[in-house]
Amino acid sequence: MNAFALTGRHVRGMLDSASYEETFRPEPVRIDARSQAVLDHPVLRLMPDEVQGLIRDRGRLRSLAAGECATTGATVGFVVDGAVAAFDRKNIACVSLHGRGSMFGWETSLTSSVYPTRFLAMLGSQWIEAPAEDLTDLMGQTWVEHVFARHALDRLVRVQAEAACNAVHQVPQRTANWIFRLYQMAGRELRTTQAVLAQAMGVQRTSVNAAVKALERDGAVILSRGRLVVTDAERLERFACGC
Ligand SMILES: [Zn+2]
Repeated sequence: MNAFALTGRHVRGMLDSASYEETFRPEPVRIDARSQAVLDHPVLRLMPDEVQGLIRDRGRLRSLAAGECATTGATVGFVVDGAVAAFDRKNIACVSLHGRGSMFGWETSLTSSVYPTRFLAMLGSQWIEAPAEDLTDLMGQTWVEHVFARHALDRLVRVQAEAACNAVHQVPQRTANWIFRLYQMAGRELRTTQAVLAQAMGVQRTSVNAAVKALERDGAVILSRGRLVVTDAERLERFACGC
């Protein structure tokens, strides 16, 4: 018997049954998906009440299965689950990978010429987004510029690293690197496929298949029922180029 039941029985005699029902019947706590997203996101949870309120009231939940693509316009997004890769304007290279707890899209608050960003879900992913304009109105341009400035440097470093990686490293090392990055974001069991990895790297699926086979032979990963399971993270990291 739990503490609530004891309390309820104890006071029951003092109350008529109607007020007992009213006072002590536990209401199922209903948290809608948007409020849940605010609670689940480590950064959003710490943001000012106004921002949380905006997301709860006007946020749009987006979900993608691994391998699905979506585009977003002038929105700021908060990743609640999975990992989504963002591509450059010409869809040539992945410019950033956003895992659970990360944010994207602050740059759209600052530019008037906003173009859609294409996202590829590397794993089953979910994020919540709100119009960048609303966030700017709410928090002021200075605040948004401050947040953006912090993200801009990370992004620039990432774009440069990605470009160098594409130019210098071979598919086997890059495949190991992608798997290792996803492992760091989402743990050992990755619901993704070689086709998704190939799409992210902009290479042929057959070369990714060969790279994954080699990693399997070396005991770093196994493929099992639509999942890629990391069996030896240290070994995987040794194969990865580390970009
Ligand atoms: Zn590399």
